[in-house]
Amino acid sequence: MGGGLVGASLAACLARDPAVQVVVVEKFAPPSQHNHTGPQDLHPSYDARNTALANGTCHVFEQLGLWQGMRQHAVPIHTIDITNQGSFGRAVIRAEEERVRALGYVIENRFMGQFLNQHLQQCPNVQLLAPADIGGLHYEGDQMVASVEIDGRWEMMKTPLVVIADGAQSHGRALLGIGAEVTPYEQVAIVTAVTPDRLHHNLALERFTDTGPLAVLPQTENRWGLTWCLDKERAAELMAAQDDAFIAALEQAAGAAIGNLTKVGKRYTYPLALTLAKEQVRPNAVVLGNAAHGLHPVAGQGLNMAMRDVAVLVQTLAAAREQGISWGDFKLLSGYLQQRQQDQFNTIQFSDKLTKLFSNRNGVLNLARNSGLLLFDTLQGTKRFVARHAMGRSVSTTLPEVAL
Ligand SMILES: Cc1cc2nc3c(=O)[nH]c(=O)nc-3n(C[C@H](O)[C@H](O)[C@H](O)COP(=O)(O)OP(=O)(O)OC[C@H]3O[C@@H](n4cnc5c(N)ncnc54)[C@H](O)[C@@H]3O)c2cc1C
Repeated sequence: MGGGLVGASLAACLARDPAVQVVVVEKFAPPSQHNHTGPQDLHPSYDARNTALANGTCHVFEQLGLWQGMRQHAVPIHTIDITNQGSFGRAVIRAEEERVRALGYVIENRFMGQFLNQHLQQCPNVQLLAPADIGGLHYEGDQMVASVEIDGRWEMMKTPLVVIADGAQSHGRALLGIGAEVTPYEQVAIVTAVTPDRLHHNLALERFTDTGPLAVLPQTENRWGLTWCLDKERAAELMAAQDDAFIAALEQAAGAAIGNLTKVGKRYTYPLALTLAKEQVRPNAVVLGNAAHGLHPVAGQGLNMAMRDVAVLVQTLAAAREQGISWGDFKLLSGYLQQRQQDQFNTIQFSDKLTKLFSNRNGVLNLARNSGLLLFDTLQGTKRFVARHAMGRSVSTTLPEVAL
């Protein structure tokens, strides 16, 4: 349920095994049917955002045979420069020092959507139902039955495993009676593209400011993709500002490393919250992606962490098939979650703490933040975390071999 970045990626991974039948139920029409003329036409998952893909995520796309095409639209990150507004502290990560070709790749979500959807349409064992919805889920013996609405008619589908991947405001979660803890960050992200007056040299900037973090990622056509997290009032002012006023405010907040900007694209906003599902596995069901854990984008981990979940889930299910264990087996699914718990915990904690530390106007926190030691620790901690996860060393993303 949900054919966004995570649901579609999982479907593609599972479909590598021709004996597996996958049905993707997606509420929105496929991206090819949208002409992207306005924000209302943007697919909720394959929209204006750009995503920093960790090498582990690229590795999954590579094994699906999709990376070669996606790579044409992706830009490698060679350097990440992490700074704090108002202090001299700085942490720099360089690909050559880490002995990797790139610290990750930046791609616009719409391209990932196009490649994933085209691929799914060509998989003979994938049925892509879009637009479609699931109106009910119930157990029947050791299977799950989904009532699926397609073109105004209802169809019952029986399956050993339903995967709920319909985003942070998950309807699927509600259908299963699984609650979620939602903590709004009282911030929104402004997303747009800006053009510098010189070459970006594959440099990414992560900048902590008094009003929230901002990230600038190298994009194609010498653009930088901006994700600027701010309180709602300031964001509203910046959304309403003329282009030159927006550019001036950004240059001021982003510091010297951004230099002079000549152009800004169309701006979009995204509300930010930490959403944590109270359960991620049930008999015959797994909750995945933003439906399981929607994070602040500060550390660029939402999709990357979910793709590590996808890889481990696919490994778990392949092993179960070899051993003749049903995919709905609760012990099996609990085992998957157990394998993922530590990485999920570390990533969620890291993103949340970093956001709170750099977004809170509380005087004590401000004092602590600006004290050299905490700043040094935070920048170095961010460096270690980003380097480890950007390079995909933390979790194996190797998909199981498939007997063709
Ligand atoms: C500003 C911003 C920048 C980000 N940058 C990064 C980054 O650099 N790196 C990174 O790793 N992550 C990043 N993220 C996070 C990343 O975008 C998300 O983790 C990712 O989109 C989650 O994908 P998903 O498929 O779980 O959910 P979604 O993208 O929300 O997709 C859910 C899908 O389910 C469908 N759906 C909804 N309801 C139903 C229903 N009832 N029935 C069927 N289908 C339904 C929707 O149409 C959609 O296609 C960023 C997020 C934001 C907001």
